[in-house]
Amino acid sequence: MFPELPAIPHPLQFKSVSFTALKPGPKLIVLGAVHGNEVSGTRAILRMIREFERGDRLLLAGQVTFVPVTNPLAYNRQQRNGDRNLNRNLTPTTTPADFEDHVANWLCPLLAQHEVLLDIHSFQKGDQPFALFGPADNGGPLQPFRHARAERDLALRLGVSRFVDGWLETYANGVANRVAYIKAHGLSGQGLNTDPRYGMGTTECMRASGGYAVTLECGQHDDPQGPAVAYTAIENTLVHLGLIAGQVPQPVRDYQHLTLVEVIDKRHADDQFCRSWSSFDRISKGELIGLRQNGEEVRAPRDGFIVFPNTTSQAGQEWFYVAKEETEPL
Ligand SMILES: [Zn+2]
Repeated sequence: MFPELPAIPHPLQFKSVSFTALKPGPKLIVLGAVHGNEVSGTRAILRMIREFERGDRLLLAGQVTFVPVTNPLAYNRQQRNGDRNLNRNLTPTTTPADFEDHVANWLCPLLAQHEVLLDIHSFQKGDQPFALFGPADNGGPLQPFRHARAERDLALRLGVSRFVDGWLETYANGVANRVAYIKAHGLSGQGLNTDPRYGMGTTECMRASGGYAVTLECGQHDDPQGPAVAYTAIENTLVHLGLIAGQVPQPVRDYQHLTLVEVIDKRHADDQFCRSWSSFDRISKGELIGLRQNGEEVRAPRDGFIVFPNTTSQAGQEWFYVAKEETEPL
């Protein structure tokens, strides 16, 4: 039902496939394999392209652009990154220094030609699929935004029932804490991410160019259900935006909404978790999370959830995030 994954023998070129309707309408872009080992979205996108090409689907309005493999070098190597994480510091540059800089120089202008982004990822460890969306409408300096309603309306129709927000704000606070720690301890900070703009990924780039964007995390990397979760999300998005005919998706009623509120860095490569945490494990204030290399205990700063725990992060990088549960309806 889903196409086999294609080989990309020369990962030094970029590919997108667009369909444009006769009638004007929203311009959607769907990304797969921003991280090269996250290919459930790739398979769903390839199936959708095939259905348009066969005539099983017809674009009624607007435009849809599919990018099955956004980072071909990482995909080719079957790993997360080519030279670095594409989903950080994603911005065009006149002096590209690594492969992901070249991706950015192609991808950022492409995103800017669209209004809505669905970016499909998968995760290493966890249970259920979830979606990430951006900030509330605001005019602040970090990420001014005015499409929160439309963005959340889309997220609620992807077919998942867990939502996470607060990423860039929390990341920027984390960078501020990191800088303060470096100063207080007379460290050099060399090689560390001390610029809040480093938190710019695909969705932040899309919002910065006037559109809105949702990230779908469609399950574990090798979950056999992942492609189907991704496919449903693409189909629901196309119908919801009026680009194709179909059963109009209704917003999910029972869901969990978590907001990231804090990020805690590793300080030493040998800082260790005290157990094998998964994203969305519940934590209680004061609960032991891990032990630093110098013996210092790291305890939960509040009741909530641990999110994106990373055993392989380096000193001075994000170790884990803490989220709180929201009770206000989206
Ligand atoms: Zn990813």
